[in-house]
Amino acid sequence: MLSFFMPTKIFFGKDAVYENYSLFDIGKRAFIVCSPSVFKNGSLEDVFSVLKRHKIEYALYSSIKPNPTVEQIDEVVQIAKDFKADFIIGIGGGSPLDSSKAIAVLLANENWHAKDLFEKHIEKSLPLICIPTTCGTGSEVTPYSILTIHDIENKRSFASEHIFPKYAIVDYKYLKSLPFDIIVDTSFDALSHVIEGFLAVKNTPFTSSFAFDALKIYSSIKSNLLNKNLNDKILEMLSLISVYGGIIIAHTSTLVVHPLGYNLTYYHDIPHGRANAYLLSKFLEIEMKYLPDEVETIINLLGFNDINDLDNYIKELLPPANINIETNTLNFYASRAIASKNVNNLRHEISMDELVYIMKSIE
Ligand code: NAP
Ligand code: FE
Repeated sequence: MLSFFMPTKIFFGKDAVYENYSLFDIGKRAFIVCSPSVFKNGSLEDVFSVLKRHKIEYALYSSIKPNPTVEQIDEVVQIAKDFKADFIIGIGGGSPLDSSKAIAVLLANENWHAKDLFEKHIEKSLPLICIPTTCGTGSEVTPYSILTIHDIENKRSFASEHIFPKYAIVDYKYLKSLPFDIIVDTSFDALSHVIEGFLAVKNTPFTSSFAFDALKIYSSIKSNLLNKNLNDKILEMLSLISVYGGIIIAHTSTLVVHPLGYNLTYYHDIPHGRANAYLLSKFLEIEMKYLPDEVETIINLLGFNDINDLDNYIKELLPPANINIETNTLNFYASRAIASKNVNNLRHEISMDELVYIMKSIE
């Protein structure tokens, strides 16, 4: 039995916010959740103009930090409650978008705190519009939100059908102000979603077809990234790959690259997409043992000769990780990944040794 479920309506293209202004007429009091870059990339200006057009009252919280914490979410929820928001608009990278999802649920559930999101069954949320300004997470089309919890020294995701945004409005023009290194990092997050999703146990012909297209598109633009030769068309393609990656993992979830990478983000401050990128080739080496045809397909569609070729490409685009992690610590990181629910998404068992081998990529 196959199924495909994407309740988020997606609007994709230049000036998508402005052109689809009628979408914003879903409430009377909008609470906007974003981070400082929205003041520079034009996204907030676009949203302000459509809200004014509908005479919708709004309040703004613009200080979401990368890798948002449960504490920060609780603080912002209080502000949104005081404002009596009846819908939420998330603008930015995965950090503000994931925050907006958490806030939307907490506003609909009296007396819940952010930590409850990981324990309680979510049955409702305020309507949510998500507008991405990076090209990586695909959070605008996923039922996931990932928050940092210092008590467990890690990032954790919660999932619910109710946090699929009502609308995802994707305009690649917001990527124009994104520093090149963040374009690279976030595009590797998207690529990681596509690859992990394709190799996942829940991959279907539906998600495969998105993966095939995403990998082919990536192949056609990979030299532009190497040469820093970006234009509107390339930014549009990067946004598309990111949305495809989100649609894929909404169905398949991610595999072990993500939970291994959370260690690099939490303990070594490495951005999420870059952390995935460091681990990707060694992960594919492991997968090659179990799923050689699928891995060959990925490498071929990406236009690389072999995994080594992909590895060299990644290394050319990223600064060296330059971190030395002791064996005990590597084992600790691997043990957290093996305890995560993501291992169940693999099509095979994985050993501690294999996870440590993947983690060793960063040496
Ligand atoms: P991010 O943490 O949201 O943002 C990274 C940086 O990009 C910030 O410093 C931000 O600056 C800057 N930025 C964003 N858009 C910009 C623009 N258009 N111009 C200039 N600067 C811009 O990065 P992200 O990689 O998109 O998101 C990562 C988060 O998403 C992680 O927490 C990860 O775990 C999560 N994630 C979620 C999902 C999901 O399905 N929900 C999937 C994968 C990853 P400012 O802070 O100054 O604005
Ligand atoms: Fe990711």
